[in-house]
Amino acid sequence: MARKLAGRVALVTGGGRGIGRAICQLFAEEGAHVGVADIDKKLAEQTLETLPTPGIALQLDVAAKRAVEAGFSDLVAHFGQLDILVNNAGILLSTTFEDCSEETWDRILAVNLKGTFLCCQAAIPLMKPRGIGAIVNMSSVAAKSGGFTGHPPYVAAKAGVSALTIGLARYLAPHRVRVNAIAPGVIDTDMTKTASHADLAAQIPLGEVGTARDVAQCALFLASDEARHITGEIIDVNGGLWMD
Ligand code: NAD
Repeated sequence: MARKLAGRVALVTGGGRGIGRAICQLFAEEGAHVGVADIDKKLAEQTLETLPTPGIALQLDVAAKRAVEAGFSDLVAHFGQLDILVNNAGILLSTTFEDCSEETWDRILAVNLKGTFLCCQAAIPLMKPRGIGAIVNMSSVAAKSGGFTGHPPYVAAKAGVSALTIGLARYLAPHRVRVNAIAPGVIDTDMTKTASHADLAAQIPLGEVGTARDVAQCALFLASDEARHITGEIIDVNGGLWMD
């Protein structure tokens, strides 16, 4: 059977572990060449070692414009094109609204929202003139539900990611570049390891927390030609935790 991403080049931010790693692995299984971008070089290299197709590890902080531009240049120098961008890098720092420092607010917004903007900006010149491209952003159920009480800046950042997705989808649609997002619920990764998964699973209608692979399957669909008529969509992968 033809692989869904054969001949495609993808860049996945936050690809060093968790959901990002699962996306890199599934994309490579489906034939893509993957740029594994992460702020942590070691993690990016570890992911790269697991991929069945040739890829490249890119160390970059998505919140730093120059680093983003350099990473995209490296990828294109290596593989000649960019077809798919997954803006997966994100951080969750718990803080109450009253105690949230300016630095904490700025960093959460910088990685989750500005990072998505900067990577989209770097990708557009590589996609728009070719009339091809798929961008998948990582939002969160928190953008709809309000998240847990310790996450107000994260909620605001992810709501921004959802809104940016729609705005960019509209802008890029005439150029056949599709922009969609995923809103995961509770997924079993390092990000959620301090929470009790048993307690969380009890609140999820399907009765379990999700796996990184569950989210990767949705990213694969959105990145592939199977989703050729879908843009500006935000897909929940949450076991029914939030239904709308
Ligand atoms: P994770 O913490 O396990 O992995 C995040 C990865 O991003 C790490 O490899 C980290 O090094 C990298 N990273 C962090 N800051 C970066 C930066 N500035 N530049 C580049 N890379 C950076 O997280 P995860 O659970 O795999 O989450 C992935 C995405 O999914 C995030 O955007 C997160 O907000 C979102 N999400 C996760 C869940 C969940 O339950 N795990 C739920 C909803 C949304």
